[in-house]
Amino acid sequence: MQTLPNAPKTLPQSAHYDVIIAGAGPVGLFLACELALAKCSVLVLEKAGQAQSPLKQMPFGMRGLNAPSVEALDRRGLLQELQVPKQLKFPHAAAAAPGPGKPQGGGHFAGIQIQTDKVDPAHWPSRLPTATDNQAICELAELETVLARRAEALGVTIRRGLAITDVTQTADSVTVQAGDQELTARWLVGCDGGRSAVRKASGFDFVGTEPEFTGYSLRVDLADPEKLRPGRHVTATGMYMQSLPGYLILQDFDGGAAHRAQPALTLDYVQALTRRISGTDVTIKALHLASTWTDRARQATTYRRGRVLLAGDAAHIHAPLGGQGLNLGLGDAINLGWKLAATIKGLAPADLLDSYTTERHPIGVRVLDWSRAQVAIMRPDPAARALYAIMRDLMDMPDGATYMAGRIWGLGMRYPLAGAHPLVGHSAPNFKLTAGPTVGELLREGRGLLLAFEADAELQAWASEFSSRLRYVAGPAEEPLGLRAVLIRPDGVVAWATAHAVDTAELAVAASPWLLAKPERPG
Ligand SMILES: Cc1cc2nc3c(=O)[nH]c(=O)nc-3n(C[C@H](O)[C@H](O)[C@H](O)COP(=O)(O)OP(=O)(O)OC[C@H]3O[C@@H](n4cnc5c(N)ncnc54)[C@H](O)[C@@H]3O)c2cc1C
Repeated sequence: MQTLPNAPKTLPQSAHYDVIIAGAGPVGLFLACELALAKCSVLVLEKAGQAQSPLKQMPFGMRGLNAPSVEALDRRGLLQELQVPKQLKFPHAAAAAPGPGKPQGGGHFAGIQIQTDKVDPAHWPSRLPTATDNQAICELAELETVLARRAEALGVTIRRGLAITDVTQTADSVTVQAGDQELTARWLVGCDGGRSAVRKASGFDFVGTEPEFTGYSLRVDLADPEKLRPGRHVTATGMYMQSLPGYLILQDFDGGAAHRAQPALTLDYVQALTRRISGTDVTIKALHLASTWTDRARQATTYRRGRVLLAGDAAHIHAPLGGQGLNLGLGDAINLGWKLAATIKGLAPADLLDSYTTERHPIGVRVLDWSRAQVAIMRPDPAARALYAIMRDLMDMPDGATYMAGRIWGLGMRYPLAGAHPLVGHSAPNFKLTAGPTVGELLREGRGLLLAFEADAELQAWASEFSSRLRYVAGPAEEPLGLRAVLIRPDGVVAWATAHAVDTAELAVAASPWLLAKPERPG
């Protein structure tokens, strides 16, 4: 058996790793980091031999991150390693961003841009001046590079060019077939994308709606680029978007037929398509890159079957309109990582792992519906055009712009945790202590956080019972929002908060769904 940096001493004979992750996409890699941070041994198996692809690089690889993703990366010190967000004042993304002229930021719904100057920030009083950005842009290639580097530094083994083809599980372990090898772990997480082999081999139901269009990502040389306007344009037959000259995204409302049929994407095919969708006689001189995708929207009915879990596109697929899929997947990873690690270490209450589905599945439902709603008003028919015009008017009003921004930036996201304080279940405000650190910085080691804005011996004594999983920090904050203390889970979600004298009995009840006082048998 190979020696693993984080391998627990008590590994059963049958299980070499705590967790095998299928897929070294952004979600699989972020999950690997989370598990390794909690001292689990992790093997990532990736089908592709090469990490890089032109579709992961700018401008096609440009991905919008919402507030929960920006916070998640900040809470693990990963945001700071990404160069692209630092350049969003950045010329390349400025050129690549949709819309004529300078990028407006803020995001869009069905191509209708949010007017950020109409958004009312008072709607989110817990977004402190020290909050991370509501949005950022990243490059998929860079994000994966940074995550893979962190994962390997934490002891994760990543093996590329090995596709999982079959899965079998027993009460104690999961075995995967990959190439001519059989590999065993205690747990398996399928982060292997929309066509997930893990999902199919493990019997998950994947339900939803069929596509209305085929989407195309094209890199071409145009003889007459001025015939296509820059930015995003809904037309009589679909939608086209030109980010940089020759970098095109098209939507053809063919019911997804072309994506299913996988026609040869020749220059003639692409030219005829581009002319039909754009309503111009533009001429394509050379075709460098072409790929298709759809708005098929499906979701696994549960994210766990026995010892197999799903995260990211393996658990849910939908149109990339408005950029939500990566955000959804990163949110899955930071929700699942600490729960699975606690289960492996025997430190999880019985229902903790199943709360991954309970908390994340409804978020997926909302995102799939958000994507369907956009498709519904983009259809090239008179009723959809009429609805589109009404939506544009509503988004032009402050209340409309604020509602849409809240949804797109992910600011209203809340898990159904029990607790009286309105912050419970929400992402923790990024409190900054007068001594220096922010909540984001205090969460970087992946432990929970009990933050007392006045030193409290009783709280400190309570927290000391859980010191391997909970950090106690006391001191005044620049803006404590009227709170005395707040309990924050490892993923940055508020589990308990009080503005009054601390009641440790109430605190213990709030912590009980995730902080187990005495270790149980390892999972
Ligand atoms: C044009 C476009 C624009 C988008 N824009 C945005 C955006 O702005 N914001 C946003 O949030 N999202 C966006 N998305 C969606 C986002 O890119 C995906 O949701 C995200 O990449 C999913 O990550 P993942 O790790 O779950 O899956 P993937 O990125 O698909 O990674 C899965 C990995 O698993 C590997 N794999 C597959 N099968 C196997 C197997 N059998 N065994 C082992 N490995 C396997 C694959 O090779 C791949 O590396 C966009 C998508 C598209 C197509």
